[in-house]
Amino acid sequence: MEKEKEVLKKVREFMILNLEIKKLLKELNFEDIYEEYERVTKILRKPNIELYRRLYNAVLELEYNGKKRKEIPWFPRIDYDKCKNCKKCVEFCPRGVYDIEDGKVKVKYPYNCIVNCNACAEMCCDNKAIIFPNKTI
Ligand code: SF4
Ligand code: SF4
Repeated sequence: MEKEKEVLKKVREFMILNLEIKKLLKELNFEDIYEEYERVTKILRKPNIELYRRLYNAVLELEYNGKKRKEIPWFPRIDYDKCKNCKKCVEFCPRGVYDIEDGKVKVKYPYNCIVNCNACAEMCCDNKAIIFPNKTI
């Protein structure tokens, strides 16, 4: 389990570092190099999602501010009265939180969600079908 947790931590560090480098490249107007880093981000998206899904048991045990992830109630819920089943959230989430089961979008890996992030709720349809807790943690 320790190795699994270590891999996930490194993936997270890598993603944060990649974001920080891209931000600096933008500020320096190094568009061509920025594009290369963006390409790497896209290439790694699928394997990263696969890791977060395959190592879900280790995700549950990861610690944030002294608490295990499985003890932190931060994840999306879908209001199926409003959901259009457009599947945009499945494409959008970099952690593979959403998946399709029997043709229907589900929150299959809730604890893969980045604590205090609600980016997918903003991107969801006008109906606001994705719900997060009211307060950040
Ligand atoms: S993006 Fe919103 S409307 Fe589309 S499938 Fe996801 S929850 Fe449903
Ligand atoms: S907030 Fe971010 S990490 Fe969490 S489910 Fe939405 S897109 Fe995925």
